[in-house]
Amino acid sequence: MKNNVDKENIKKLFDLIYNEAKKLKNKINLMEVCGTHTMAISLYGIRAQLPPNINLISGPGCPVCVTPIQEIDKVIEISEKENVIITTFGDMMRVPGTFSSLEEKRAKGKDVRIVYSPMDALEIAKANPEKKVVFVGIGFETTAPAVAMALKTALKQKIQNFFILSFFKIIIPPMIALVNDKNLKLDGFICPGHVSAITGAKIYEPIAIKYKMACVVTGFEEADVLTGIYMLLRQIISRKPAVEIQYKRVVTYDGNKIAQKILKEVFKTKDSVWRGIGLIPESGLSLSKKYERFDAEKIFTVNTNYSKEPKGCKCGEVLKGAVKPFDCPLFKTKCTPENPVGACMVSSEGTCAAYYKYEVN
Ligand code: SF4
Repeated sequence: MKNNVDKENIKKLFDLIYNEAKKLKNKINLMEVCGTHTMAISLYGIRAQLPPNINLISGPGCPVCVTPIQEIDKVIEISEKENVIITTFGDMMRVPGTFSSLEEKRAKGKDVRIVYSPMDALEIAKANPEKKVVFVGIGFETTAPAVAMALKTALKQKIQNFFILSFFKIIIPPMIALVNDKNLKLDGFICPGHVSAITGAKIYEPIAIKYKMACVVTGFEEADVLTGIYMLLRQIISRKPAVEIQYKRVVTYDGNKIAQKILKEVFKTKDSVWRGIGLIPESGLSLSKKYERFDAEKIFTVNTNYSKEPKGCKCGEVLKGAVKPFDCPLFKTKCTPENPVGACMVSSEGTCAAYYKYEVN
């Protein structure tokens, strides 16, 4: 609950934003590319309280949501194989594939287990040497280092039955793709706090310098988000796009160099498909040569040519900010958190789930 000091502080931040917004010549579009920001903006009702000439757009920041349906189908197919244990974070269980979900496969007797870290998955592999244990690696630079650590341990301990499906993505290439999307007309980014803690704020330099986009790495409290928006407004109005860090209690310019070193050792970049955006060159991570024997895609051959998004679901357009969840005819009718049609309604960080819980049309 907010005390009086907090309330006063929030009011002051809104006043600052309203004063700056009066100086804008046109309506501006700011995008967040982090599911935790999407949730925070909806939870605190920030979108509805901003001046009408500031439009907040949710971008591709939810790990489960950006994972394309063919990758979901791939995991489901592998769960059908003999002597396989699939290990995954809980969010993936209910994501609909073309015909089924991991939750449904588990209900039909397939060995699909929720784990809280890749190290848990490695322990399952050690305890079940006769089985092939596959960990589903999704997310961004934030989650990949923990998988890299598990792989280093597996290599050192000569574990033969542990594998990774590396569906990891990196955040800068889709940001550039969205900047170049003429339909969006973005003016600035609320840059992700968690990813930046690993990468450092330096990764946004090309976006600010070459593409002239305002960039502020922002935290997740209400005051953080409002301060981040105010800092973006200042950059836009002064026409001096730059990289600024609002979330200084966690993020530095250079980031976590140890985590960056581990990522570089274990992974290499690859072209990757993003739900809604499509194939983006060099936007994903696959295992480096030293670790490629842990690559589940080299062990299991699966065909997902049949993969198809759920009929009527606009998740892809929601993810690139082209439409809002309210624009989907299935929103709150056929698609709810209890019965999700698309990935954006399943995940706790999904845009449709955030709108369902907190936003009013
Ligand atoms: S409301 Fe459901 S069906 Fe519509 S875009 Fe969102 S996830 Fe897809």
